[in-house]
Parts: sequence; C-alpha cells; structure tokens
Amino acid sequence: MDFGAFLGNDALKRRLQESFRQGKTSHCYLLCGVEGSGRRTLALQMAAALECKDERNPGCGVCPACRKVLAKQHPDVITVDDTEHKNVAVDIVRQARSDVFIRPNEGRKKVYIIPRGQDLGAPSQNALLKILEEPPEYAVFLILTTSAERLLPTIRSRAVQLQLSPLSYEQAIPELKRRFPDKSDLELADALEQAEGYLGPACEALRDGLFLPQALALANGFAARDGLAVLQALVPMEKNKREQILPVLEQTRRLLCMALRARAGSIVPGDTVQALLRGRTGAELLQAAETLQTAADDLSSNVGVGAVVGGLCVQLK
Ligand SMILES: [Zn+2]
Repeated sequence: MDFGAFLGNDALKRRLQESFRQGKTSHCYLLCGVEGSGRRTLALQMAAALECKDERNPGCGVCPACRKVLAKQHPDVITVDDTEHKNVAVDIVRQARSDVFIRPNEGRKKVYIIPRGQDLGAPSQNALLKILEEPPEYAVFLILTTSAERLLPTIRSRAVQLQLSPLSYEQAIPELKRRFPDKSDLELADALEQAEGYLGPACEALRDGLFLPQALALANGFAARDGLAVLQALVPMEKNKREQILPVLEQTRRLLCMALRARAGSIVPGDTVQALLRGRTGAELLQAAETLQTAADDLSSNVGVGAVVGGLCVQLK
C-alpha cells in the first residue's frame, strides 16, 4: 500500500496495510484527527486500496483504479458532504442511503467518504446508522471527524477507529522544506511548533505569516522602547473578544522567548527577534514574557478584557 503524501503515523499504516493485504476490511472507518492532520489524504489512499486491481499490494498507486481514485475521478468513490450548510443535511445522507444499494459501476467496492463527520446532526447520524446496520457487502464508509465523540456510540461501535497523530520533527521538516524552499529552518521549526506537529496548520502558518500583525507590532514597539507604539498596539484590543486577544499575547510572549533563546545562541533570529535582542536586556525580556503570561492566564480565568489590556498598558514599558 502506497500512502503517498500521508506522512508519519507508522503504527496505523502497518495496521491498515496488514488488514488490507489480508482482505479484512471493515464497512466503516472513523478517521479521527484535527484539521490538517492528513485525514483527507489518508481517506483517498484507503479508497484507492479498496478499489485497487493489485490484490497482493492493494493501493499500489499505479493501476488504473488507483490512479482514478487519487485523481478523484472514480465513479464508485463518492463524497458525501453538504457544502451549503454548517450541518450536513439529513437529505444528503438519505441520498447516499438509496445510492448504496446500486451496485458499483466498475469498482470492487463502493466507497463513501464523509469529510465532516463532526457536522452530522442527530437525524443525519441516525440515517447513516440505518445503512451501517445492514450494509451491502461492497459498501465502505470512511467518516472523517475531528473527534470520535461527536458520533453516536452506535456508529462508533460499528467502525474501526483510526486516530491520526502529530508528526515528529524529523518526519515533518523535510516535507515542509520541500514545500517552502525559501523559508529558513527556524521559520519551519517554529511553524511546526505552533501547529503542534500537524502538517496542515504548519503550512497555513507558513503561507499566511507566522505571527499575527498585532503581535509583531507589540513586540516591535516593545523592542524599540516606543511607549506610544506599544499603546497603539494594545489599546484597540480593548474592543476585541478574549479569543482574539489570547493568540496575540501568546505570540508576543513567544517572540520574547525566542529572543531569549537567540541570546543563548540556540536559534537564528528573524527581524522582530533581532530587534528585541538589540533593544532589550535579557532581564527585561524575561519580565515582559512573564507579564504577558500572567495577562493570558487572567484572560483565560475570566478577568475582564479592559482590566487585562489596561494592566498591560501600564506594565509593558
Ligand atoms: Zn492499484
């Protein structure tokens, strides 16, 4: 089985490979993992393995069936989603339910990929359950979800649960390097850390910029000992919600910590970190990092936004 771009997750791969080779496949799989953990990539690879013509190495990646699946052109690999609505409407699932009894067009199996399992409401889940109770032998459902708990226990008990894991530094960095050849090692490592080891969010961070503009403005103002710039970064936050402020505080604190690490020579600094290094002593960086941490803790424990931002205006000098 060729897992293609699906990286890491070695134990899970071995387990799937073994069962597919023995032809012991289930009618339902739950692919559980955060957004960007590779669930869609894995689902396509599994669909290819289910349709593959090569019985000794199902999911060979090169036979016509595999190629059709991977190009998303196989008539028997069907995506069940409702792009119009936040919740997948029950009608969409019912359509799949009537379609499932029509035999596969050309494939060995009929594979239904449900990309937003977490957005199946109770009626949709009950409709799905009706299929899973007595599926035709050729039907396989691949349900992607951010959490298995979002699905009924009666669905979970009929499914093989596959939990996707974050990647290690060694697994992810070469791939990130390949996709972002212009970025420095530090930027790649930092994006991966920010994304907690998941490739999708790491790529997003690298594409959209690692740090929020407000965090950069705050850190640069602090680095330049420019009280006005610090206030200009902080004051507009009073109008924001705590969920919007928390990442700004967290990222600013991380910039300060990166400057401390760069001071110790353990990382190569970017522009903002260099400014912090030039403008501030280690003790000042440490103290500001602690101030930001306290502010973030206060926000999380429901201290008012105004009081927290006001406190920062006084303390971050
Ligand atoms: Zn194949």
